[in-house]
Amino acid sequence: MRITTTNLIQKVQNYQRLNQKEAEALYDLDLYTLGELASTIREDMYGKKSYFNINRHINPTNVCKDVCKFCAYSATRKNPNQYTMSHKEILDIAKVSFEKGAKEVHIVSAHNPEAGLEWYMGAFRKIKEHYPSLHIKALTAAEVDFLAREYNLSYDEILDMMIENGVDSMPGGGAEIFDEEVRDFICKGKVTSDQWLDIHRKWHQRGRMSNATMLFGHIEQRKDRIDHILRLRDLQDETGGFNAFIPLVYQRENNYLKVTNYPTGQEILKTYAISRILLDNIPHIKAYWVTASIGLALIAQEFGADDLDGTIDKESIQSAAGAKSSHGMNLLEFVNIIKNSGFIPIERDSLYTELQTY
Ligand code: SF4
Repeated sequence: MRITTTNLIQKVQNYQRLNQKEAEALYDLDLYTLGELASTIREDMYGKKSYFNINRHINPTNVCKDVCKFCAYSATRKNPNQYTMSHKEILDIAKVSFEKGAKEVHIVSAHNPEAGLEWYMGAFRKIKEHYPSLHIKALTAAEVDFLAREYNLSYDEILDMMIENGVDSMPGGGAEIFDEEVRDFICKGKVTSDQWLDIHRKWHQRGRMSNATMLFGHIEQRKDRIDHILRLRDLQDETGGFNAFIPLVYQRENNYLKVTNYPTGQEILKTYAISRILLDNIPHIKAYWVTASIGLALIAQEFGADDLDGTIDKESIQSAAGAKSSHGMNLLEFVNIIKNSGFIPIERDSLYTELQTY
């Protein structure tokens, strides 16, 4: 059947699922129509609430054996300043963050072949021993795959080890873009799309939650974004283990992926809106202000996004590629800009229990 604008809008308004071709056609709707459709769904779910958490990102090493073209963080490429934190350094950061009120540490590293498995797992265990209430969100599926290959272990063994050592949930990184051809070009050799999905499936089967990301705005096409989102929708139908979907806007500085047609604000907002419309089974759409910019993330609240991530405190990965996030954001400032944008700031924990309304 031919896809008409009227049919498409009616299907979205009736909460009917769209297939790949119909979803691609959403991009042809004008921005305001798309925004209104996504916003209606968002407001049906959460009204004017906008979620965030008080968190701290820790990136314990930038030494990496992989060579993703889009990466500005890895020390083996353009960044000559290698570092690997000791457990004491990691624990000191966790201590300061905990004392400042952080409820979550988000720990993501490069793929360091010299650090050792115990360096990764011991850091989680020690944080948990000292701060049992601090939620540990750690190890992307790409890191799980790296550790499994490096130490000749199965995904199951690594995932069980994570749980034994105190990891509570998994972040959504490493998904990049699932289309195999694009993926081969931007990050050949890293976890494959099927492996990424399989690792999250196995994590969910253990009763644990995770997030899912999509890196967009580089060489992928709109159809690749839709394919990515629909593969996540399929897995979520199966497991129900994703809390949030996070479209990450590609940062263009200091890397080997020479992108010239950087996405417009309109294209970014359309992508948030389409994510909200398509992912009827993933509860939260996160506008990660680190990559979208805080201004666009605030507008994204009117295009389907209900979560702005958190105060972050410090961040090294995206800021290496040009994002303005290296020092996070002050809580009061964060809360005030959400309020001023017409939404209600709700502090949540890592699993979206509401903790405080501001
Ligand atoms: S994106 Fe991650 S895996 Fe790829 S080079 Fe950078 S740090 Fe390594």
